[in-house]
Amino acid sequence: VGMIAIVGRPNVGKSTLFNRLVGQRRAIVGDEPGITRDRLYGYSEWAGKRLRVVDTGGIVPDDEALIPAEIFRQAKVALEEADVIVMVVDARTELASPDIDLARLLQRTGKPLILAVNKIDDPKLESYVEDFRRLGIRTMVPISAEHSTGVAELLEEILERIPEKAAGDKTVEDKNAGARPALRNAKTAAEPADTFDDQPSVDLDSEIDDAPHEGAEQPDSELTPEIKIAIIGRPNVGKSTMLNRLTGTARAIVSPIAGTTRDAVDEVVERDGQIFRFIDTAGIRRKGKTRLMAEKLSVVMARKHLEAADLALVLIDATEGVTAIDATIAGYAHEAGRSVIVVINKWDLVTINRADGKPAAKVDIFEEQVRRHLKFLNYAPIVFASAETGYGSGKIYEAIELVARERRKRIATGEMNRFLKHVDFERAGVPYSQRVRILYMTQAAVSPPTFILFTDRATPLHFSYRRFLENQIRDAFQFVGTPIWIKSRARN
Ligand code: GDP
Repeated sequence: VGMIAIVGRPNVGKSTLFNRLVGQRRAIVGDEPGITRDRLYGYSEWAGKRLRVVDTGGIVPDDEALIPAEIFRQAKVALEEADVIVMVVDARTELASPDIDLARLLQRTGKPLILAVNKIDDPKLESYVEDFRRLGIRTMVPISAEHSTGVAELLEEILERIPEKAAGDKTVEDKNAGARPALRNAKTAAEPADTFDDQPSVDLDSEIDDAPHEGAEQPDSELTPEIKIAIIGRPNVGKSTMLNRLTGTARAIVSPIAGTTRDAVDEVVERDGQIFRFIDTAGIRRKGKTRLMAEKLSVVMARKHLEAADLALVLIDATEGVTAIDATIAGYAHEAGRSVIVVINKWDLVTINRADGKPAAKVDIFEEQVRRHLKFLNYAPIVFASAETGYGSGKIYEAIELVARERRKRIATGEMNRFLKHVDFERAGVPYSQRVRILYMTQAAVSPPTFILFTDRATPLHFSYRRFLENQIRDAFQFVGTPIWIKSRARN
């Protein structure tokens, strides 16, 4: 599926265009887990190809002082996922400096960019398009979203820029095979301080048509997506104390933006240029009246908070160890495809010498316990912390940034298939009758990393293949803290 992001100033007609592209399929909008209310998603189909369209509308503040930083803050996830960006302008208004700033920033993503000059309701108005050439966007299409004119032409331009693989065309060879050294991702994972911070959004494989501007600066920190965090765990593990601790050490952002006031219960903080959004902090602080109610509430809240989050801090009480409710709550995060960091909280209470003179608790004993009781989270980092004293807060933030990067990591198809060549599926131990030939694979999505495996016949993929392949992928590319989804498809 190719991904299109629609971007532009208020009232230029983004939503109308979105509706034109998506049509009746709009019904599914907003149902996807993890999508904030600020963004609308829908699907479109054209010439047999499926497109995913995201409308960044409704999020752009009217206050021009906040453009484009806020456009970016809000729309960055959409832009990051996009294969093609469509910037919309209103033909009947003067070209204003926010448009120029926005165009410049969009160009810096290095992604294929198309300018839709909207509200050309009459062919006579087409000459207005020329006024927008100053934006420096090569491909300009006059449209009237209202009257549906030019929309087909726009779709054609979009499709030309969708990488074949993303559009679901399985027969085309990977154009970039061999174009890049295989070590890049392994290196990035090993060295969190690598360039990924600067450029998480640029998929080198999609830069087929529009090469990034010569000598363009690195995208600045405005391009770094906000990280949405759910703090989950059973009653009294220290969720609210941890929230206070984590938000207390960072700079709170009070934002007058319409899109964020609706989310007033989120707490948004900035730390070294990275924005962290703690989901539904009112919910984190809510307590059940009885123990049973509190436990039920903690599970319900965990599920709700996970919907809006990229990653979860799963808190475990060090004085009590891993319990069944911990496993249930952590299981939801895993199932939902959210990244997970296990935080062993109240570490201050177990590391000191106890009154009976017994020695302090050992890190590896706890780690072993977590790994044993939460087997499915073998990919999750474990951080030892004390919300009370602040011990480990820095480590938690580091883990969050690492895991968020890993979650968005994209392995080029060429690299993936070079990797696949060296995987010996004999070792997966799949019963003979269940065996399939694995032809090639591609990473279809990020957040969570999702791989499509093409096989020679339509047999459901045996779980041993899945597990084996997941381990091999992690050995080669890490993907710290994030579940990996593997889908299989028979190539016909
Ligand atoms: P929640 O129900 O998960 O939100 O838990 P709270 O944040 O309300 O914490 C429950 C209790 O544990 C409170 O009395 C906190 O002061 C205490 N607490 C939380 N974190 C720590 C910690 O790291 N160390 C210690 N010693 N106490 C903690």
